Amino acid sequence: MRYLDEFNDPALARRLLDDVHRATTRPWAIMEVCGGQTHSIVRHGIDQLLPEAIELIHGPGCPVCVTPLEVIDRALAIASRPEVVFCSFGDMLRVPGSEHDLLTVKSRGGDVRVVYSPLDALALAEAEPDRQVVLFAIGFETTAPANALAVLQAHQRGVTNFSVLVSHVLVPPAVTAILASPSCRVQAFLLAGHVCSVMGTGQYAPLVRQHRVPMVVTGFEPLDVLEGIRRAVLQLESGRAELENAYPRAVRDEGNEAARRVLADVFEVCDRTWRGIGTIPASGLRLAEPYRRLDAEARFDVGAIRTGESPLCRSGEVLQGLITPHECEAFGTRCTPRAPLGATMVSGEGACAAYYRYRRLDQPVAAPGRGG
Ligand code: SF4
Repeated sequence: MRYLDEFNDPALARRLLDDVHRATTRPWAIMEVCGGQTHSIVRHGIDQLLPEAIELIHGPGCPVCVTPLEVIDRALAIASRPEVVFCSFGDMLRVPGSEHDLLTVKSRGGDVRVVYSPLDALALAEAEPDRQVVLFAIGFETTAPANALAVLQAHQRGVTNFSVLVSHVLVPPAVTAILASPSCRVQAFLLAGHVCSVMGTGQYAPLVRQHRVPMVVTGFEPLDVLEGIRRAVLQLESGRAELENAYPRAVRDEGNEAARRVLADVFEVCDRTWRGIGTIPASGLRLAEPYRRLDAEARFDVGAIRTGESPLCRSGEVLQGLITPHECEAFGTRCTPRAPLGATMVSGEGACAAYYRYRRLDQPVAAPGRGG
């Protein structure tokens, strides 16, 4: 598929669905890793068109949702300082910290600005040398290269009033953690195509071999998702476990070498806490030693902030595919996009937000055998 109208081809969708129905002989549980794929599935009702035996499990691939609470609270503390211009992508503004969010800080007079590129934040720092400009650098391997580039350029130009609050996370360790969990029911994965477009596909080959689980690199349009499901089902039904690339228009095996180089230069791997999930070894990125002077956490001394998650929020279980948003008692009542209790209700890629937008009026259906 190359053009937009090809993504909306109902005849092709029908053919792909027919293939899945014909091939399916028994129950299979497939996880779509990325929140963008979750939204595509829920928005277009793809799960409702599949054979009943196919269960799609929503994965943890929402960068906003998994940013740890303590990092949000550090962001709030830094953004509240009078000398700071705090730059963030817009989807972080309403993510709740322990007590409030960045939008609240802004309404109280904090200088919180939405940027569309990390380089905009760097340009702001150069334009306003008397202010401290801080970039909120979150997300998966997709957003990390652009943030790394801003750090690299600030370092090379000797910009002293620019720093970054880093909370990047990596997908392969999260997939490993899911597979290692005793409660794991996932039998195949739809991998996030945009992550693979940066990092390539090689990191997943050892996981496929070790766990004997099919993995299909998948895009985000409805037909991309259907093709990913079709390939996963064909593998499962034939007893194969292979790494397949169903998104070749964006993903090459080697990924984007320039992006990988800048990542490897600016960041180093560290353990990282995922909101609602806990610490996953070697699942994060932090500034490498030559760039530590640009670390906002150290510059503003916010490392020791205490946090408290809403006791009502079950987003950790949602992120691990253990429950659907409907199964959370607060869904649509005490937790809505206007008054969210958890990040998964706020983010454009959050599963709770997808269900609120497209499935609010559906009856909750508790899947047998699910945790919770
Ligand atoms: S519906 Fe709200 S409270 Fe429940 S898991 Fe989702 S974000 Fe948390």
